[in-house]
Amino acid sequence: MSDLSYAVQLAQKLIRCPSITPEEAGTLDLLEVELTQVGFNCTRLVFGEGKDKIDNLYAELGEGPAHFAFAGHVDVVPVGRLADWQFDPFQAEIKDGFLYGRGAADMKSGIAAFVSAIRQWQESSKKQTKISLIITGDEEADAINGTSKLIDWMRQNDIFPDMCIVAEPTSQIRIGDNIRNGRRGSLSGSLTVTGQQGHVAYPDLARNPTLTLMKMLAPITSTKLDGGNAYFGPSTAEVTGLSTSSSITNVIPLNANAMFNIRFNTEHTKETLQGWLEDHFKRIATKYEVRFEIKWKSNAAPFATEAGKLTELLRKAIKAQTGVIAELSTTGGTSDARFITNLCPVAEFGLVGKTMHQIDEKVLIDDIDILANIYEDMLHRFDANHEY
Ligand SMILES: [Zn+2]
Repeated sequence: MSDLSYAVQLAQKLIRCPSITPEEAGTLDLLEVELTQVGFNCTRLVFGEGKDKIDNLYAELGEGPAHFAFAGHVDVVPVGRLADWQFDPFQAEIKDGFLYGRGAADMKSGIAAFVSAIRQWQESSKKQTKISLIITGDEEADAINGTSKLIDWMRQNDIFPDMCIVAEPTSQIRIGDNIRNGRRGSLSGSLTVTGQQGHVAYPDLARNPTLTLMKMLAPITSTKLDGGNAYFGPSTAEVTGLSTSSSITNVIPLNANAMFNIRFNTEHTKETLQGWLEDHFKRIATKYEVRFEIKWKSNAAPFATEAGKLTELLRKAIKAQTGVIAELSTTGGTSDARFITNLCPVAEFGLVGKTMHQIDEKVLIDDIDILANIYEDMLHRFDANHEY
């Protein structure tokens, strides 16, 4: 018999399912069996058509009215070059206290930890707290047929948890050091300026679009757009690509194009940024008599969960289980919490994420058990905090 905890064994079983997006690869079937055993009602929700089809799972336990939710994703990113791995990415081997495999950090062990926490909590809780689990198979790819649609479905069915923890691996150096209470938004632009082509020796007979393009890009060239606020650092903008329609040195090009990306905080919306830049582009275009075209793409709005009951209970649970004082931060890329914020207050908290998406992704097995204890502690604190 193995002396590994339930949480570690469940993490191993999940890692052994090669669920690279969009494959579910048995992960949701496995969770459904485990969850049904402890009394959860499971609903499988398939969204999308054909090759975009994604399998998701919503599970619910208890009556409420107090209602706590956990969220996570069972999909993982591809392994990269298999030969580079020291450990088979889908064997879930344990060596020197570490569990290795794709998804060990991001975020199958996190899911295993909250399932284990609920089992532990159930044995001692006398409350009627309702627990729901929001589990998606589409976080690492486009995130179109995953949490976003699951949240729409919950809203339509009038399911509103009081708060939610996403089990993303937010810890940085040691477990408990970091909670994410928000994320920045992302806005990309592709800007094309059209001037008049001509001979470089006769610039008066041409209109060079590169000069105009550079003037248009001036306010967003490797710069900070604001001073940040209570939860966020400054919004940043970077030009990521430049090209023209000319490939030789004696022709003034007809077109010049730039691509750029803005990572923005809650001081802006994509609409205010687009409006500001389009006004600026128009002024320059009028002055230099050129035309321009801008194409925008934004798949993430910024959000912040105000420090409050959720972050306070979580920080207390972390402190009680580890002695660590957790910091609130909003760094990193985007995550599914950006959808859950439309449903209830949400924070992300989980294992040490240093090796996420890397070769030989790993987590300490002791950390998985500590995380389960933190989540269980959090549930008891939530029980105690709720008035019946
Ligand atoms: Zn993740």
